[in-house]
Amino acid sequence: MQLREDIRNIAIIAHVDHGKTTLVDQLLKYSGTFRENEQVDERAMDSGDIERERGITILAKNTAINYHDTRINILDTPGHADFGGEVERIMKMVDGVALVVDAYEGTMPQTRFVLKKALEQKLTPIVVLNKIDRPNARPQEVVDEVLDLFIELGADDEQLEFPVVYASAINGTSGLEPEEQEETMDPIFSTILEHIPAPVDTREDPLQFQVTLLDYNDYVGRIGVGRVIRGSIKVGQQVVVMKKDGSTKSFRISKLFGFIGLKRIEIEEAVAGDIVAVSGLDDINVGETICPVDHQEALPFLRIDEPTLQ
Ligand code: GDP
Repeated sequence: MQLREDIRNIAIIAHVDHGKTTLVDQLLKYSGTFRENEQVDERAMDSGDIERERGITILAKNTAINYHDTRINILDTPGHADFGGEVERIMKMVDGVALVVDAYEGTMPQTRFVLKKALEQKLTPIVVLNKIDRPNARPQEVVDEVLDLFIELGADDEQLEFPVVYASAINGTSGLEPEEQEETMDPIFSTILEHIPAPVDTREDPLQFQVTLLDYNDYVGRIGVGRVIRGSIKVGQQVVVMKKDGSTKSFRISKLFGFIGLKRIEIEEAVAGDIVAVSGLDDINVGETICPVDHQEALPFLRIDEPTLQ
């Protein structure tokens, strides 16, 4: 089995305010994914406007970080229970999660909500105990709380082996022990590379790409974001999209976008394991599978949240 060692796909999950955004900013900065004179002037994951169409809320952002020879896609997840379907869909694109927990506050309701989803999807977890600089931080106790929560939520034996990295995202320090902090994010990156499984390289198989999130752009219209589950996808390729009712629609991939940092860039081709955005069909919807014309095989449909009427 060939693995794509050049890629890791993870979701970052946390209770609100435990420091996801600060951490991702720090990982971006430290990795040098931004050019030297380029400011991180937009906070990484608060940049999106909330868009709604047909009850689908687009909050997720992909941040692609190049660390040495590996591309790490970090997908943000909403912590709120109203977005359960979206959280599940995002988790279908990744192989692991980084659970961020405030070393003073400990586990909170949204910690439980998002961790439950990740464990159910059999994802590989790592834990980042953040804010260890807080004067009243209690890292050891909080690690015990996290372990109890894993057990209570039915984590399997492998998931219970989660590694812990201690960090102060705000100060840019991290380490494998609370009191042994280095002024780099290397301990977090090496924990991700070591523990999160690399995607299986199935680029020789027939294409399957599942639309997991939607985005829009005045220039290219509707954009479907997802992971190349199998095979490869190219600009100009003739494909079919398989709809929920079993019908299909043929279209040509007009543009493909990859990610660098917080930016989307045009690319020519993507292969199994890559998270990319596709344009070319205006009525593409969440959950649909894009396949080659001569090999039509839909993936199981994905759950979509009902709009909350309040
Ligand atoms: P998010 O809601 O999980 O994205 O959390 P943010 O990254 O927006 O952080 C929430 C608040 O916690 C902000 O005021 C941050 O400045 C602060 N914060 C983030 N990381 C740390 C940290 O390591 N130490 C301390 N003391 N504060 C932090």
